Amino acid sequence: MKTVRTSAGLADAVAPWKSVGAKIAFVPTMGALHEGHLSLIALARRNAPRVVASIFVNPTQFAPHEDFDSYPRHPERDAALLSRAGCDLLFIPDRETVYPPGFGTWIDPQGAALGLESAVRPHFFRGVATVVARLFALVRPDIAVFGEKDAQQLAVVRQLVRDLDFPVEIVGGPIVREADGLAMSSRNNYLSPEERQRAVRLSRALAQARARFECGERRSEVLCEAVTQELAADPEIVLHYVEVVDPDTFVPVEKVDRQAVVALAAKIGSTRLIDNIRLEG
Ligand code: AMP
Repeated sequence: MKTVRTSAGLADAVAPWKSVGAKIAFVPTMGALHEGHLSLIALARRNAPRVVASIFVNPTQFAPHEDFDSYPRHPERDAALLSRAGCDLLFIPDRETVYPPGFGTWIDPQGAALGLESAVRPHFFRGVATVVARLFALVRPDIAVFGEKDAQQLAVVRQLVRDLDFPVEIVGGPIVREADGLAMSSRNNYLSPEERQRAVRLSRALAQARARFECGERRSEVLCEAVTQELAADPEIVLHYVEVVDPDTFVPVEKVDRQAVVALAAKIGSTRLIDNIRLEG
């Protein structure tokens, strides 16, 4: 696997693939990689002969009080993992490559970006949509792979590609979980051993909602109650939201009579985690 850091280096590395029409699948990440990320590399491999990953901790999606400075950064370890997972090219741009001097164009998504994460992180999807557009312009992939772990982000990216006619096919990859059910996340690194144990309750709460759904319950309100009840048993867990939404529009639904996502965000100590499940209504 080759590593490039500049737009010229990236263009040189992909030129031979482009010239023979080899499709490129792209997996953007912020690094601190885990099995969840690597599953996306494997999925990318199944979708295209060439796989490009990026590591860029995008400053514009962090609010000033958030963890941009302390976000875990392990580029060498990440590169070894990517190489083993079958990635062909790693792009690690610096800030000026993604946002050159004088940069002044922002994508401010509405629709799927409204509510849920945006209620707590108002500028988050503006940063995400803008960086995704920049990375697409630099990498020029045929396919881009995103995780269902960030279900609202996936919906926002699909909307971005649809609205702006980006010539990229978006592929979603299923959530990879730890053995006890906790969704893998780079931010799990922040949890103390005690908080790590508490965090299992998030996936357990979603499993309660699924159990109710499988018993025939379709009312979103009741499914959300199953989640809030389970989480209320631990006063150290602060629930930011739990909602049942349409997976494409992220508009809340009252009843699960077609596919829906139950999405939650909660804080354990100072760590904010998100998780979701998909219900086939
Ligand atoms: P991040 O590095 O957190 O920005 O994530 C990069 C990509 O990996 C995003 O598309 C995430 O949705 C995806 N991802 C993160 N965690 C997981 C997971 N546990 N399972 C599947 N995909 C994930």
